[in-house]
Amino acid sequence: MKNLDAVIIGAGFAGLYAIYQLRQLGLQIRAFEKGDDVGGVWYWNRYPGARCDVESMQYSFAFSNELQQSWRWKERFTPQPEILSYAQHVANRFKLREHIQFNTSVISAHFNESTSRWDITTSDQGQYSAQFFLMATGCLSSARIPDFEGLNTYKGKTFHTGQWPKMPVDFSGQCVGVIGTGSSGIQIIPIIAEQAQTLHVFQRTANFSIPARNQPMDDDYERQWKDNYPSLRERAKTETTSGTLYTRSTRKATEMDAVERQQEYKRRWQTGGVNFMYSFKDLMTDIKSNETAEDFVRAQIRSIVKNQEVANLLAPTDHPLGSKRICIDTNYFQTYNKSNVTLVDVKLNLIQSFTSTGLQTSHAHYKLDAMVFATGYDAMTGSFLDIDIRGRHGNTLKNAWKEGPKAYLGLMVADFPNLFTITGPGSPSILAQMIFAIGQHVDWISQCIADLQKNKFTTIEAKSDAQEQWATHVNEVAHQTLFVQANSWYLGANIPNKPRVFVPYAGGVVPYRQKCEKVAANDYEGFKRI
Ligand code: FAD
Ligand code: NAP
Repeated sequence: MKNLDAVIIGAGFAGLYAIYQLRQLGLQIRAFEKGDDVGGVWYWNRYPGARCDVESMQYSFAFSNELQQSWRWKERFTPQPEILSYAQHVANRFKLREHIQFNTSVISAHFNESTSRWDITTSDQGQYSAQFFLMATGCLSSARIPDFEGLNTYKGKTFHTGQWPKMPVDFSGQCVGVIGTGSSGIQIIPIIAEQAQTLHVFQRTANFSIPARNQPMDDDYERQWKDNYPSLRERAKTETTSGTLYTRSTRKATEMDAVERQQEYKRRWQTGGVNFMYSFKDLMTDIKSNETAEDFVRAQIRSIVKNQEVANLLAPTDHPLGSKRICIDTNYFQTYNKSNVTLVDVKLNLIQSFTSTGLQTSHAHYKLDAMVFATGYDAMTGSFLDIDIRGRHGNTLKNAWKEGPKAYLGLMVADFPNLFTITGPGSPSILAQMIFAIGQHVDWISQCIADLQKNKFTTIEAKSDAQEQWATHVNEVAHQTLFVQANSWYLGANIPNKPRVFVPYAGGVVPYRQKCEKVAANDYEGFKRI
């Protein structure tokens, strides 16, 4: 058994930054990563069309001014290969690789009550004892293909967007099917449509999507950011709900007259991106306001898609705009005007089973050479529960979370001492710009560990009552928004039998950060230190 001060699981942005920070505390650390390189999501999601939906100048680390000044993003919204290069650059520049063991999964982690340390085993039979244990396993890293009947008999090629092969896939001349029209599906569908002989998109739920209007990076815009990075990063920290600076309106949609409102939506539709969601301040809290934006987007879809039957199928009607993660696209709706693309509504035309040659629905059989699953993730908890984690008294994390995940401030779980959950359940995580959320969590955790060491404590853990109160607050805040009105992965609705709990904290990054800081300043109120 090898002794370490801290084990970190994952070498995405969270793992990389955790290594950087904990190393500064002089800790002996090791990170384990399933993949053979750094990058996390951007290592695994090599599907054509994968790109960031937060502007490049903001989706990046803020901890090193030299890094943010020297790195040059080429496009307004960065494509996957460039984000992967950035992660590799960060790992090289800050010499983080020497702490990472690649091609290695963490299989189990058991809290040893006699040593107050974590006993950790890895896929290469490694055994480690560590005082601190950091989960940097990602909110969207446990890729999921639904349990389709007959899938194992299907002879065509299959792909999941979140486990895309390293070698480029050529769909030329092939009949391709895509299941899933979330953000990943919406990005990959236009690209496959350009290559494939035929493309069938099997849609269960239509999604709202806003055009990205991606473009090469504008030199003046880049300069403006670089000249003002410290103050802009500070504004992102203190003035935003998500850690990303958008042009936020101070007006309510329902206060405006219809003409002015339309003009605002049109202006934002034309400039593109998530900024559309900030057209009015009440879009996520007032259903009447939200409906005005929904109507606008549905009208755009109907004006882009020539076949009105198809347009009607593509226009979402069953959830408020933004209550499922808003999608950002390039030519998504236009793709359905191509003669080789067919939309199949699988709410009416039910998927029954895979056959050796394709997909059987209640209305027809579709012969397919390749099948792409853009079917998403066991989000926010999947990558935790894939590991056999046991805390005090041998209690498993699976059992602790059987009625839904709870973590005090999304940072620690009662009865799991010294286990830190970076962007864990109950933190803004996936509702925020994720590199921002990761930065805030890792900074808090490393300060917490430094304070433990200074005050000669061995362990810290969440108190159950503080955890309960926080979980109640997270739930109450979610119910003040429209998020809870959709069957989304935010609620675990995409996974059969997963408890229906709204997992991320919807109260905004500013009150969240203030709460975390207050807790630390008050001698880690709600935590027990021994
Ligand atoms: P990840 O990047 O998921 O890294 C976790 C790592 O842990 C993975 O490499 C995984 O292999 C490893 N791991 C997991 N379990 C184990 C184990 N048991 N043993 C060893 N290793 C393990 N967020 C945004 O803010 N803006 C965006 O535009 C955006 N776009 C996205 C696009 C896609 C396609 C996806 C899937 C997500 C996107 N996200 C976006 C969210 C994204 O999850 C975060 O931005 C960020 O990359 C998460 O970093 P992370 O390090 O926390 O997790
Ligand atoms: P997702 O949003 O969960 O979408 C999965 C899709 O698969 C949905 O359309 C879903 O339909 C469909 N589906 C699942 N099971 C099905 C079944 N049994 N039959 C038919 N359809 C089924 O997953 P994702 O698109 O991979 O995105 C996940 C998250 O990753 C995003 O929300 C976002 O946060 C992030 N992401 C971001 C970007 C970006 O733009 N930067 C790109 C990709 C991903 P239902 O809706 O009916 O369940």
